[in-house]
Amino acid sequence: MTRRRNTDPPLSTSDLHAAVSQRLARHDHRYTQGRRRLVEAILEAGQPVTLPEIVVVAPGLAPSSVYRNLDVLERSGVVNRITSGGDRAHFEFAEPLMSHHHHLVCVDCGSIEDVFLDDELEASVDRSLAEVAGQAGFTPLRHSLDLHGRCAGCESD
Ligand SMILES: [Zn+2]
Ligand SMILES: [Zn+2]
Repeated sequence: MTRRRNTDPPLSTSDLHAAVSQRLARHDHRYTQGRRRLVEAILEAGQPVTLPEIVVVAPGLAPSSVYRNLDVLERSGVVNRITSGGDRAHFEFAEPLMSHHHHLVCVDCGSIEDVFLDDELEASVDRSLAEVAGQAGFTPLRHSLDLHGRCAGCESD
């Protein structure tokens, strides 16, 4: 598997804010200062983050309002909640605010790392899945694949 970090986000920071604002407006929500700072904290983290991690990055934000705003952002299609693995939900920007990717989920410590496949490999995954789906008379629209295992830190313990 080819691994790379997302060094090339699909949107500039100002385009991201514009897209978030649009999505919120579509759901009758305002892009408040608190929501903007929350989006900035997720952007700054650059990886899936838990609520406590967000509060560390943005100490000015009250956990209760982060919790409520994450819910609003999730229902507006701005962030995705990743619940696989540990007991704590992780949050990240939803596609297409973030490029399509997959997750390495550690079954020991619950860490979640983003992994991006190169285009060729991604296309070959899609072809294989489309073949399986076709046999079931199923029309695939998109896929989400997470790999569960042990992260480097846990494996060396
Ligand atoms: Zn681990
Ligand atoms: Zn991710």
